[in-house]
Amino acid sequence: MSARFAVDDLWMGHRYGPTVLEEVAGRLRPVESGLAAAQRSGAPRLPGAVMPGIVDRHVHLGLVAAAALADTAVVEVHDLGWIPQVARSWKINSPTGGLVKIAGPFLTAVGGYPADRAWAPPESVRGLAGPEDGVRAVEEAAASGHDMIKLVLHSGGPLLDDATLVAVVRAAHGHRLPVGVHAEGEGQARRAFEAGADILVHVPWTESLPDDLIAAMARSMTWTSTFAIHPDAGRERALDNAGRFIRTGGPLHYGTDMGNGPTPVGPRSEEITALGEAGLAGDALLQAMTSSPGRDGLPIRSAVHALLPLPNDAAEAVAWMSQARRLVGVIEEGAVA
Ligand SMILES: [Zn+2]
Repeated sequence: MSARFAVDDLWMGHRYGPTVLEEVAGRLRPVESGLAAAQRSGAPRLPGAVMPGIVDRHVHLGLVAAAALADTAVVEVHDLGWIPQVARSWKINSPTGGLVKIAGPFLTAVGGYPADRAWAPPESVRGLAGPEDGVRAVEEAAASGHDMIKLVLHSGGPLLDDATLVAVVRAAHGHRLPVGVHAEGEGQARRAFEAGADILVHVPWTESLPDDLIAAMARSMTWTSTFAIHPDAGRERALDNAGRFIRTGGPLHYGTDMGNGPTPVGPRSEEITALGEAGLAGDALLQAMTSSPGRDGLPIRSAVHALLPLPNDAAEAVAWMSQARRLVGVIEEGAVA
């Protein structure tokens, strides 16, 4: 392919309009924008629009036919709990053709959720006997190249105590590993926040959080949506919490909990629609669904293309992402001319 090509529209954090893109060492950078500039450049043209693909920040690859993701606009997934050896193999040999980040095992109380669930293989769950055991689990994750730590606080069964929570978070931060918490039941989201966790891997859905707690969380945490997995009441509560989180400046990200029940392997329309219901549109919506390109540009493997105008709202984003394909494959087929 040519190192330079023009597209009708580009979104990389904001909308560029007609743009000449340059690929250098696997990364895409906008060179110049505007219709006149694109025409003047004489660069070959790829009709349609380009943007970063979807990052699904909550999946369980071990429970889905991961290879089916390879043809979709989901270019990056974060696996939040599986057998560590298997999860590590996904980082070396990606079953999705895209980027896979992993948490490794679920860290939970001894006998705690999800140790009692049929879908969770025993090796995917690590019960922590106390703070020292928690630190050991983090050291092992760091030494094995895991990307984050996943903690579980699920009411109705054994729960980790605060000392263990804090020890795990401190150890993780010592290794620059973010900590994502599954917080279910009264007071568990607050416990995760007070222990210093970075991410709630589900927007809180079992209780309505007070405004002051939400505002405090918005300053130090990100939340991952997973709205579509909940039945109506939980979904409404989650949407209400998320709406207030967004309005006070909290970063909400797209995540589906793919593998939890019969979830589609690819972009989940109901999840994107719910992001819109929570209050996201325009650049904020696209930011919630993607990763921000680094200073040296967008990895070309993370870019997607569709023959549609760029989406402005959730309904358009649903249509766009369902048609979008990975840019690398589009270019290989000779669509740039
Ligand atoms: Zn999950």
